[in-house]
Amino acid sequence: MEDVILVVNCGSSSLKLALFDQHHRRRTSALADSLNTEDAFARIDGVEEKVALPSSASHREALEALVSRFRDLGLMTSEPRAIGHRVVHGGEAFKEATVIDDSALRSIQACAGLAPLHNPVNLSGIAATRLMFPAVPQVAVFDTAYHQTLPQRAYLYALPEAWYREWGVRRYGFHGTSHYFMALEAARLLNRTLATTSVISAHLGNGCSIAAIRDGISVDTSMGLTPLEGLVMGTRSGDVDPGIFDFLSTKGLCTEEVHQALNHQSGLLGVSGQTNDMRSLCELADHGHKPSALAIDIFCFRLAKYVGAMMASLSQLDALVFTGGIGENSARVRQKTVEHLHLMGFKIRADFNEANGQYTDGHIEDNGSRFAILVIPTDEELVIAREASRLSGGTGAG
Ligand code: AMP
Repeated sequence: MEDVILVVNCGSSSLKLALFDQHHRRRTSALADSLNTEDAFARIDGVEEKVALPSSASHREALEALVSRFRDLGLMTSEPRAIGHRVVHGGEAFKEATVIDDSALRSIQACAGLAPLHNPVNLSGIAATRLMFPAVPQVAVFDTAYHQTLPQRAYLYALPEAWYREWGVRRYGFHGTSHYFMALEAARLLNRTLATTSVISAHLGNGCSIAAIRDGISVDTSMGLTPLEGLVMGTRSGDVDPGIFDFLSTKGLCTEEVHQALNHQSGLLGVSGQTNDMRSLCELADHGHKPSALAIDIFCFRLAKYVGAMMASLSQLDALVFTGGIGENSARVRQKTVEHLHLMGFKIRADFNEANGQYTDGHIEDNGSRFAILVIPTDEELVIAREASRLSGGTGAG
Protein backbone atom coordinates (compact mmCIF):
# COMPACT_ATOMS: atom_id res chain seq x y z
CA MET A 1 0.00 0.00 0.00
CA GLU A 2 1.29 3.44 -0.94
CA ASP A 3 1.90 5.73 1.98
CA VAL A 4 -0.30 8.69 1.09
CA ILE A 5 -2.85 10.38 3.31
CA LEU A 6 -6.04 11.77 1.81
CA VAL A 7 -7.63 14.77 3.56
CA VAL A 8 -11.32 15.45 2.91
CA ASN A 9 -13.11 18.69 3.74
CA CYS A 10 -16.79 18.67 2.79
CA GLY A 11 -18.66 22.00 2.84
CA SER A 12 -22.33 22.50 2.06
CA SER A 13 -21.74 22.79 -1.70
CA SER A 14 -18.01 22.20 -1.92
CA LEU A 15 -15.44 19.45 -1.51
CA LYS A 16 -11.76 20.10 -0.87
CA LEU A 17 -9.24 17.28 -1.09
CA ALA A 18 -5.55 17.26 -0.26
CA LEU A 19 -3.00 14.47 -0.69
CA PHE A 20 0.05 14.24 1.56
CA ASP A 21 3.01 11.90 1.21
CA GLN A 22 4.50 9.84 4.05
CA HIS A 23 6.62 12.82 5.15
CA HIS A 24 3.43 14.90 5.35
CA ARG A 25 4.47 16.98 2.37
CA ARG A 26 1.51 18.16 0.32
CA ARG A 27 1.44 16.33 -2.99
CA THR A 28 -1.61 18.06 -4.43
CA SER A 29 -4.92 19.74 -3.61
CA ALA A 30 -8.24 19.74 -5.42
CA LEU A 31 -11.53 21.56 -5.21
CA ALA A 32 -15.06 20.78 -6.35
CA ASP A 33 -17.65 23.51 -5.96
CA SER A 34 -21.27 24.43 -6.74
CA LEU A 35 -22.06 20.75 -6.14
CA ASN A 36 -25.64 19.57 -6.63
CA THR A 37 -26.20 22.44 -9.08
CA GLU A 38 -25.83 22.68 -12.85
CA ASP A 39 -22.67 24.78 -12.35
CA ALA A 40 -20.81 22.02 -10.49
CA PHE A 41 -17.11 21.93 -11.38
CA ALA A 42 -13.90 20.35 -10.12
CA ARG A 43 -10.24 21.08 -10.61
CA ILE A 44 -6.87 19.92 -9.38
CA ASP A 45 -4.16 22.44 -8.41
CA GLY A 46 -1.67 22.96 -11.20
CA VAL A 47 -3.79 21.09 -13.77
CA GLU A 48 -5.30 23.40 -16.35
CA GLU A 49 -8.28 21.46 -17.62
CA LYS A 50 -11.20 20.90 -15.27
CA VAL A 51 -12.11 17.42 -14.09
CA ALA A 52 -15.22 16.12 -15.88
CA LEU A 53 -18.20 15.70 -13.54
CA PRO A 54 -21.68 14.25 -14.11
CA SER A 55 -24.31 16.99 -14.33
CA SER A 56 -25.36 18.37 -10.89
CA ALA A 57 -22.67 16.15 -9.38
CA SER A 58 -23.05 15.16 -5.72
CA HIS A 59 -20.22 15.15 -3.17
CA ARG A 60 -19.76 11.42 -3.74
CA GLU A 61 -19.62 11.78 -7.52
CA ALA A 62 -17.10 14.63 -7.26
CA LEU A 63 -14.97 12.59 -4.87
CA GLU A 64 -14.98 9.61 -7.24
CA ALA A 65 -14.11 11.80 -10.24
CA LEU A 66 -11.25 13.54 -8.42
CA VAL A 67 -9.78 10.33 -7.00
CA SER A 68 -9.96 8.73 -10.42
CA ARG A 69 -8.12 11.74 -11.89
CA PHE A 70 -5.50 11.55 -9.11
CA ARG A 71 -4.91 7.97 -10.25
CA ASP A 72 -4.66 8.91 -13.94
CA LEU A 73 -2.12 11.58 -13.08
CA GLY A 74 -0.05 9.14 -11.03
CA LEU A 75 -0.63 11.17 -7.85
CA MET A 76 -2.21 8.21 -6.09
CA THR A 77 -1.11 4.79 -7.27
CA SER A 78 -2.95 2.69 -4.69
CA GLU A 79 -5.31 3.15 -1.77
CA PRO A 80 -4.35 5.85 0.76
CA ARG A 81 -2.87 4.67 4.07
CA ALA A 82 -5.38 6.79 5.99
CA ILE A 83 -8.12 9.32 5.33
CA GLY A 84 -8.60 12.38 7.52
CA HIS A 85 -11.91 14.24 7.58
CA ARG A 86 -12.60 17.74 8.80
CA VAL A 87 -15.70 17.61 10.99
CA VAL A 88 -17.09 20.91 12.22
CA HIS A 89 -18.79 20.01 15.50
CA GLY A 90 -17.63 17.44 18.01
CA GLY A 91 -19.67 18.87 20.89
CA GLU A 92 -18.39 17.73 24.29
CA ALA A 93 -18.05 14.16 23.01
CA PHE A 94 -14.76 14.76 21.21
CA LYS A 95 -11.84 16.36 22.98
CA GLU A 96 -9.44 15.26 20.27
CA ALA A 97 -9.39 13.62 16.85
CA THR A 98 -10.78 10.10 16.66
CA VAL A 99 -10.71 7.00 14.50
CA ILE A 100 -14.10 6.73 12.80
CA ASP A 101 -15.90 3.57 13.85
CA ASP A 102 -19.64 3.01 14.18
CA SER A 103 -19.76 4.45 17.68
CA ALA A 104 -17.86 7.60 16.60
CA LEU A 105 -20.25 7.95 13.68
CA ARG A 106 -23.23 7.83 16.05
CA SER A 107 -21.65 10.52 18.24
CA ILE A 108 -20.93 12.77 15.23
CA GLN A 109 -24.53 12.28 14.19
CA ALA A 110 -25.66 13.22 17.70
CA CYS A 111 -23.74 16.53 17.40
CA ALA A 112 -25.58 17.39 14.18
CA GLY A 113 -28.21 19.34 16.11
CA LEU A 114 -25.46 21.79 17.08
CA ALA A 115 -24.23 22.20 13.48
CA PRO A 116 -27.17 21.30 11.23
CA LEU A 117 -25.57 22.83 8.13
CA HIS A 118 -22.16 21.23 8.60
CA ASN A 119 -22.11 17.85 10.38
CA PRO A 120 -24.56 16.13 7.99
CA VAL A 121 -22.46 17.10 4.99
CA ASN A 122 -19.27 16.03 6.80
CA LEU A 123 -20.97 12.70 7.46
CA SER A 124 -21.86 12.31 3.80
CA GLY A 125 -18.15 12.77 2.94
CA ILE A 126 -17.25 10.08 5.46
CA ALA A 127 -19.91 7.74 4.05
CA ALA A 128 -18.57 8.26 0.53
CA THR A 129 -14.92 7.51 1.41
CA ARG A 130 -15.95 4.50 3.51
CA LEU A 131 -17.74 3.11 0.47
CA MET A 132 -14.81 3.80 -1.81
CA PHE A 133 -12.09 2.64 0.57
CA PRO A 134 -13.70 0.25 3.07
CA ALA A 135 -10.37 -1.12 4.30
CA VAL A 136 -8.66 2.25 4.89
CA PRO A 137 -8.64 3.75 8.42
CA GLN A 138 -10.60 7.00 8.59
CA VAL A 139 -10.08 9.71 11.16
CA ALA A 140 -12.26 12.69 12.13
CA VAL A 141 -10.61 15.97 13.19
CA PHE A 142 -13.01 18.43 14.82
CA ASP A 143 -13.04 22.24 14.62
CA THR A 144 -14.28 22.33 18.19
CA ALA A 145 -11.99 19.78 19.87
CA TYR A 146 -8.99 22.04 20.58
CA HIS A 147 -11.24 24.38 22.59
CA GLN A 148 -12.49 21.64 24.89
CA THR A 149 -9.84 22.77 27.39
CA LEU A 150 -11.62 26.10 28.03
CA PRO A 151 -12.31 26.59 31.73
CA GLN A 152 -15.96 26.78 32.80
CA ARG A 153 -15.80 30.53 33.32
CA ALA A 154 -14.91 30.91 29.64
CA TYR A 155 -17.30 28.37 28.13
CA LEU A 156 -20.42 28.92 30.22
CA TYR A 157 -22.78 31.73 29.30
CA ALA A 158 -24.54 33.60 32.09
CA LEU A 159 -27.82 31.88 31.24
CA PRO A 160 -30.22 29.55 33.06
CA GLU A 161 -27.99 26.56 33.85
CA ALA A 162 -30.62 24.07 32.66
CA TRP A 163 -30.02 25.31 29.10
CA TYR A 164 -26.47 24.00 29.35
CA ARG A 165 -27.37 20.82 31.21
CA GLU A 166 -30.29 19.84 29.02
CA TRP A 167 -29.45 21.29 25.62
CA GLY A 168 -25.70 21.83 25.67
CA VAL A 169 -25.93 25.62 25.32
CA ARG A 170 -22.32 26.76 25.91
CA ARG A 171 -19.33 28.19 24.06
CA TYR A 172 -17.71 25.51 21.88
CA GLY A 173 -15.47 27.62 19.65
CA PHE A 174 -14.38 26.78 16.10
CA HIS A 175 -11.26 27.01 13.86
CA GLY A 176 -9.59 24.87 16.54
CA THR A 177 -7.37 23.07 14.02
CA SER A 178 -6.03 26.39 12.75
CA HIS A 179 -5.52 27.87 16.23
CA TYR A 180 -3.67 24.71 17.29
CA PHE A 181 -1.44 24.98 14.23
CA MET A 182 -0.74 28.63 15.15
CA ALA A 183 0.39 27.56 18.61
CA LEU A 184 2.65 24.87 17.12
CA GLU A 185 4.14 27.18 14.50
CA ALA A 186 4.59 30.08 16.91
CA ALA A 187 6.44 27.74 19.28
CA ARG A 188 8.69 26.66 16.41
CA LEU A 189 9.39 30.22 15.26
CA LEU A 190 10.06 31.41 18.80
CA ASN A 191 12.27 28.42 19.64
CA ARG A 192 10.03 27.32 22.47
CA THR A 193 8.17 24.14 23.30
CA LEU A 194 4.42 24.06 22.75
CA ALA A 195 3.86 23.56 26.47
CA THR A 196 5.60 26.86 27.27
CA THR A 197 4.09 28.93 24.46
CA SER A 198 1.28 31.42 25.04
CA VAL A 199 -0.23 33.26 22.09
CA ILE A 200 -3.28 35.15 20.96
CA SER A 201 -4.21 33.65 17.61
CA ALA A 202 -6.41 35.61 15.17
CA HIS A 203 -7.79 33.50 12.32
CA LEU A 204 -9.18 36.01 9.82
CA GLY A 205 -10.75 34.53 6.70
CA ASN A 206 -14.33 34.57 5.53
CA GLY A 207 -15.06 33.32 9.03
CA CYS A 208 -13.04 34.98 11.80
CA SER A 209 -12.19 33.96 15.34
CA ILE A 210 -9.57 34.64 17.95
CA ALA A 211 -8.22 32.35 20.66
CA ALA A 212 -6.17 32.77 23.82
CA ILE A 213 -3.69 29.91 24.08
CA ARG A 214 -1.91 29.47 27.40
CA ASP A 215 1.01 27.04 27.54
CA GLY A 216 -0.17 25.42 24.31
CA ILE A 217 -3.75 25.00 25.51
CA SER A 218 -6.83 26.90 24.35
CA VAL A 219 -8.30 28.86 27.27
CA ASP A 220 -10.68 31.26 25.54
CA THR A 221 -12.08 31.95 22.10
CA SER A 222 -14.51 34.32 20.44
CA MET A 223 -16.86 31.97 18.57
CA GLY A 224 -19.49 30.41 20.75
CA LEU A 225 -22.37 27.97 20.53
CA THR A 226 -22.32 28.69 16.80
CA PRO A 227 -19.73 30.30 14.53
CA LEU A 228 -21.72 33.57 14.59
CA GLU A 229 -20.38 35.05 17.83
CA GLY A 230 -17.36 37.31 18.22
CA LEU A 231 -15.45 39.10 15.51
CA VAL A 232 -16.90 40.84 12.46
CA MET A 233 -16.71 38.42 9.49
CA GLY A 234 -17.34 38.42 5.73
CA THR A 235 -21.12 38.12 5.96
CA ARG A 236 -21.58 37.38 9.69
CA SER A 237 -22.21 40.11 12.23
CA GLY A 238 -20.24 38.66 15.14
CA ASP A 239 -21.39 40.06 18.51
CA VAL A 240 -24.66 41.96 18.62
CA ASP A 241 -27.05 42.78 21.43
CA PRO A 242 -29.25 39.67 21.89
CA GLY A 243 -32.11 42.15 22.38
CA ILE A 244 -31.99 42.63 18.61
CA PHE A 245 -34.31 39.63 18.08
CA ASP A 246 -37.01 41.18 20.25
CA PHE A 247 -36.58 44.64 18.73
CA LEU A 248 -36.67 43.41 15.15
CA SER A 249 -39.78 41.34 15.87
CA THR A 250 -41.55 44.65 16.51
CA LYS A 251 -40.48 45.60 12.97
CA GLY A 252 -42.08 42.48 11.56
CA LEU A 253 -38.99 40.27 11.14
CA CYS A 254 -39.26 36.66 12.27
CA THR A 255 -36.40 34.74 13.95
CA GLU A 256 -35.48 33.00 10.70
CA GLU A 257 -35.19 36.33 8.85
CA VAL A 258 -32.95 37.81 11.55
CA HIS A 259 -30.87 34.62 11.60
CA GLN A 260 -30.42 34.81 7.81
CA ALA A 261 -29.48 38.49 7.97
CA LEU A 262 -26.98 38.03 10.81
CA ASN A 263 -25.31 35.11 9.02
CA HIS A 264 -25.49 36.08 5.37
CA GLN A 265 -26.13 39.80 4.95
CA SER A 266 -24.09 41.34 7.77
CA GLY A 267 -20.39 41.73 8.57
CA LEU A 268 -18.19 43.37 5.93
CA LEU A 269 -20.93 42.89 3.33
CA GLY A 270 -23.62 44.45 5.48
CA VAL A 271 -21.65 47.57 6.42
CA SER A 272 -20.10 48.18 3.00
CA GLY A 273 -23.23 47.29 1.06
CA GLN A 274 -20.82 46.00 -1.60
CA THR A 275 -18.81 42.88 -0.84
CA ASN A 276 -17.66 40.44 1.82
CA ASP A 277 -14.21 40.26 0.23
CA MET A 278 -11.55 42.18 2.15
CA ARG A 279 -9.30 42.63 -0.87
CA SER A 280 -12.11 44.24 -2.88
CA LEU A 281 -13.09 46.36 0.13
CA CYS A 282 -9.55 47.73 0.40
CA GLU A 283 -9.65 48.68 -3.29
CA LEU A 284 -13.05 50.32 -2.88
CA ALA A 285 -11.84 52.23 0.18
CA ASP A 286 -8.75 53.39 -1.76
CA HIS A 287 -11.13 54.80 -4.38
CA GLY A 288 -12.96 56.82 -1.74
CA HIS A 289 -15.90 54.48 -1.04
CA LYS A 290 -16.67 55.52 2.54
CA PRO A 291 -18.88 52.57 3.60
CA SER A 292 -16.05 50.19 2.61
CA ALA A 293 -13.54 52.18 4.67
CA LEU A 294 -15.99 52.09 7.57
CA ALA A 295 -16.43 48.31 7.26
CA ILE A 296 -12.64 47.85 7.50
CA ASP A 297 -12.55 50.23 10.45
CA ILE A 298 -15.25 48.35 12.36
CA PHE A 299 -13.58 45.01 11.54
CA CYS A 300 -10.21 46.14 12.93
CA PHE A 301 -11.64 47.87 15.98
CA ARG A 302 -13.66 44.80 17.01
CA LEU A 303 -10.59 42.64 16.50
CA ALA A 304 -8.44 44.93 18.65
CA LYS A 305 -11.06 44.89 21.41
CA TYR A 306 -10.95 41.10 21.35
CA VAL A 307 -7.16 41.03 21.56
CA GLY A 308 -7.56 43.03 24.77
CA ALA A 309 -10.27 40.63 25.99
CA MET A 310 -8.07 37.59 25.35
CA MET A 311 -5.36 39.11 27.57
CA ALA A 312 -7.61 38.44 30.58
CA SER A 313 -6.99 34.69 30.15
CA LEU A 314 -3.19 34.90 29.99
CA SER A 315 -0.45 35.49 32.51
CA GLN A 316 2.22 35.76 29.86
CA LEU A 317 2.14 36.44 26.11
CA ASP A 318 4.75 35.31 23.60
CA ALA A 319 3.09 36.55 20.41
CA LEU A 320 0.02 37.92 18.72
CA VAL A 321 -0.45 35.79 15.61
CA PHE A 322 -2.34 36.64 12.42
CA THR A 323 -3.54 33.96 9.99
CA GLY A 324 -6.28 33.18 7.41
CA GLY A 325 -6.72 34.91 4.04
CA ILE A 326 -7.00 38.36 5.63
CA GLY A 327 -4.58 37.79 8.51
CA GLU A 328 -1.87 36.45 6.19
CA ASN A 329 -2.27 39.00 3.40
CA SER A 330 -3.70 42.28 4.60
CA ALA A 331 -0.98 44.57 5.96
CA ARG A 332 -3.67 47.24 6.24
CA VAL A 333 -5.88 45.21 8.58
CA ARG A 334 -2.92 44.24 10.78
CA GLN A 335 -1.66 47.83 10.90
CA LYS A 336 -5.06 49.32 11.72
CA THR A 337 -5.71 46.68 14.39
CA VAL A 338 -2.38 47.10 16.12
CA GLU A 339 -2.78 50.89 16.11
CA HIS A 340 -5.56 50.38 18.67
CA LEU A 341 -3.22 48.35 20.88
CA HIS A 342 -0.43 50.87 21.54
CA LEU A 343 -1.42 51.24 25.16
CA MET A 344 -0.79 47.53 25.67
CA GLY A 345 2.64 47.87 24.09
CA PHE A 346 2.07 46.29 20.66
CA LYS A 347 4.01 48.02 17.88
CA ILE A 348 4.25 46.97 14.26
CA ARG A 349 7.19 47.56 11.91
CA ALA A 350 5.81 48.91 8.62
CA ASP A 351 8.27 47.29 6.18
CA PHE A 352 8.10 43.86 7.83
CA ASN A 353 4.30 44.17 7.87
CA GLU A 354 4.10 45.17 4.20
CA ALA A 355 6.09 42.02 3.32
CA ASN A 356 3.67 39.87 5.40
CA GLY A 357 6.65 38.81 7.52
CA GLN A 358 8.00 36.79 4.59
CA TYR A 359 11.68 37.62 5.09
CA THR A 360 11.64 37.82 8.87
CA ASP A 361 10.41 34.36 9.90
CA GLY A 362 6.91 35.74 10.29
CA HIS A 363 7.91 38.60 12.60
CA ILE A 364 6.31 41.98 11.92
CA GLU A 365 6.79 43.66 15.32
CA ASP A 366 8.88 46.77 15.80
CA ASN A 367 11.96 46.67 18.04
CA GLY A 368 10.11 48.61 20.70
CA SER A 369 7.11 46.27 20.78
CA ARG A 370 6.41 44.61 24.12
CA PHE A 371 5.27 41.45 22.34
CA ALA A 372 6.18 39.61 19.16
CA ILE A 373 3.65 39.89 16.33
CA LEU A 374 3.68 37.05 13.81
CA VAL A 375 2.11 36.31 10.43
CA ILE A 376 1.78 32.55 9.98
CA PRO A 377 0.09 30.85 7.00
CA THR A 378 -2.39 28.34 8.32
CA ASP A 379 -2.52 24.73 7.13
CA GLU A 380 -5.48 22.95 8.65
CA GLU A 381 -5.16 20.12 6.14
CA LEU A 382 -1.63 19.37 7.29
CA VAL A 383 -2.85 19.03 10.89
CA ILE A 384 -5.62 16.69 9.70
CA ALA A 385 -3.10 14.62 7.73
CA ARG A 386 -0.80 14.36 10.76
CA GLU A 387 -3.69 13.29 12.99
CA ALA A 388 -4.90 10.74 10.43
CA SER A 389 -1.37 9.39 10.23
CA ARG A 390 -0.89 9.28 14.00
CA LEU A 391 -4.22 7.62 14.76
CA SER A 392 -3.81 5.05 12.00
CA GLY A 393 -0.52 3.87 13.37
CA GLY A 394 2.01 6.30 11.85
CA THR A 395 4.06 8.83 13.79
CA GLY A 396 2.05 12.01 13.20
CA ALA A 397 5.39 13.80 13.12
CA GLY A 398 6.78 15.73 10.20
P1 AMP B 1 -10.05 32.61 3.59
O1 AMP B 1 -11.47 32.34 4.01
O2 AMP B 1 -9.05 32.26 4.65
O3 AMP B 1 -9.71 32.07 2.23
O4 AMP B 1 -9.93 34.21 3.43
C1 AMP B 1 -10.70 34.92 2.51
C2 AMP B 1 -10.52 36.42 2.77
O5 AMP B 1 -9.12 36.76 2.64
C3 AMP B 1 -11.27 37.29 1.76
O6 AMP B 1 -11.91 38.35 2.44
C4 AMP B 1 -10.15 37.82 0.89
O7 AMP B 1 -10.45 39.07 0.31
C5 AMP B 1 -9.05 37.97 1.91
N1 AMP B 1 -7.76 38.17 1.26
C6 AMP B 1 -7.04 37.30 0.51
N2 AMP B 1 -5.94 37.90 0.01
C7 AMP B 1 -5.98 39.20 0.45
C8 AMP B 1 -5.13 40.34 0.28
N3 AMP B 1 -4.01 40.27 -0.46
N4 AMP B 1 -5.48 41.49 0.89
C9 AMP B 1 -6.60 41.57 1.63
N5 AMP B 1 -7.43 40.53 1.83
C10 AMP B 1 -7.13 39.36 1.25
